[in-house]
Amino acid sequence: MGPEVLAGGEWTTGGRVHFLPSRTTSPRPHPPSLMDTHVLESLVRGGFEQVIAIHDRTSGLRAFLAIHDRSIGPAFGGIRRWTYRAEAEALRDVMRLSRAMTHKCVLTGLAAGGAKLVALEDTGVDWAGAYRHIGDVVESLRGTFYTGPDVGTGAQELGWVAERTEFVTRPDETGPGELPEATAEGVFAGIAAGLRHLDGEESWPDRTIVIQGLGAVGSRLAGRLVECGARVLGVDVDGDRASGVASELGIELIDSSREFDVPCDVFSPCALGGILHDLSVPRLACRIVAGGANNVLANPIHGDALHRRGVLYVPDFVINSGALIRGACFHLDGHREPVPEIGKRIGTAVAEILAAAENAERPPARFAFDAAEERIWARRSEVDGEA
Ligand code: NAD
Repeated sequence: MGPEVLAGGEWTTGGRVHFLPSRTTSPRPHPPSLMDTHVLESLVRGGFEQVIAIHDRTSGLRAFLAIHDRSIGPAFGGIRRWTYRAEAEALRDVMRLSRAMTHKCVLTGLAAGGAKLVALEDTGVDWAGAYRHIGDVVESLRGTFYTGPDVGTGAQELGWVAERTEFVTRPDETGPGELPEATAEGVFAGIAAGLRHLDGEESWPDRTIVIQGLGAVGSRLAGRLVECGARVLGVDVDGDRASGVASELGIELIDSSREFDVPCDVFSPCALGGILHDLSVPRLACRIVAGGANNVLANPIHGDALHRRGVLYVPDFVINSGALIRGACFHLDGHREPVPEIGKRIGTAVAEILAAAENAERPPARFAFDAAEERIWARRSEVDGEA
C-alpha cells in the first residue's frame, strides 16, 4: 500500500511506517529538530509500531501520536495537552506514555495495547478546531486507536473530538462513565494488596495514609479509606479544593511542604508525576508508596532507591489502570465493568507482581516493567506465528 494522507499534513503508510515530518506553510514555522532524536532507532528498540507527527494549518495544532502495540487488539490512549520545552521532549513523553499504556494492558489482562497523543500547548492555537482535527485523525485509523481524557483534555475537549469520531471515550451518558471512580477503586485495592503483602492484613483502623492531591482520584480514594476507618491526611496546592474535601470527609490537612516528612503507612501520590527524585526519596517517612499518578518515579533509579530504603513501591502502571479497564471493556465488549470488579482485578494483579518481585529479589517497578515487556513480546510472537 502506498502512502496515505491522514489529514492536514501527516502521513502514514499501510505497513510499519513510523514518522514523517509534516508539510507545512505555517505562518510560524517550527524547524524540524527531530533528526537529532533517532526516532526510528527508538521505535525499533522500544518495539513501537508507529509515531505520527501531526500539524493542522487551520487550527495551528502540533501533536504527536504514538502507537505502541496493536498486536492483539486496538490501542488505547488519552490526549495530553502540555507545554513542552522542545519537540524532542514531547516525542519522548508520547513514546514513554504509550508504552506504559501497553504495560497496563498486559499486566491487567486486557486484549488491547497502548497509544498516546500529545498536543503541544501553544498560544494562538484554536483548540476547538485542533481537537476536531484530532477527531479526524482518530477516525482515519478506523477503530485501531481509541482515545480519551488525559492531562489538559476534559469533557469539553472530548466533546469536540466526538464530533468527528466514534472512537473516543465520550464524557456523557453514552460513554463508559465512572472513570475516576474506577481509578480510585484500583488504587484503594492496590494499597490493600500492599498492606497485605507486608503485614498479611489491611487492618484499616490502625493505618495512616497521606494523599497528595485531592482531585478527582485523590478525593474518592480518601472517601473510600475513611469509610474503612483509616486515618487520612490530605494535601492539595489548591487550598479551596483541600478545605472542601476536608470538611466533606472529615480528613486532616497537612501543609504542602510536609507531605514527604509525615510518618505514615502509605504515601499515595494522586497529583503529578515525577515527584519521587533525589531530594524527596530520602525524606519519605512511609512504608508503602501507592497512588494514582502516572510516572511517579522521576527515573527508574528512584524505584531502586526506595527498594534499598525498604519502602514498598506499588508500580503506578499497575495500580492506576482502573479507568483504562473501564474504558477498554466498554469499547471492546460493550459493557460497563463494575467498579468493584475493577478493584478486584487490580488488587490481584498488584498482589501477584509484589509476590513475584519479592521472589526474584528485585524492586517491584523494575520487575513489573520487565514482566510486561516479556508478555508483550510473547504475545507478539504468538500472533506472528499464527499469521
Ligand atoms: P485532578 O486534576 O482532578 O486532581 C489533581 C489534584 O492535584 C488537583 O486538585 C491539584 O490541585 C492537585 N495538585 C497538583 N499539584 C499538586 C502538588 N504539588 N501537591 C499537592 N496537590 C497538587 O486529577 P485526577 O484525575 O485526580 O488525577 C490525578 C493523577 O492521577 C494524575 O497524575 C493523573 O494523570 C492520574 N490518573 C488519573 C486517572 C483518572 O481516571 N482520572 C487515571 C489514571 C491516572
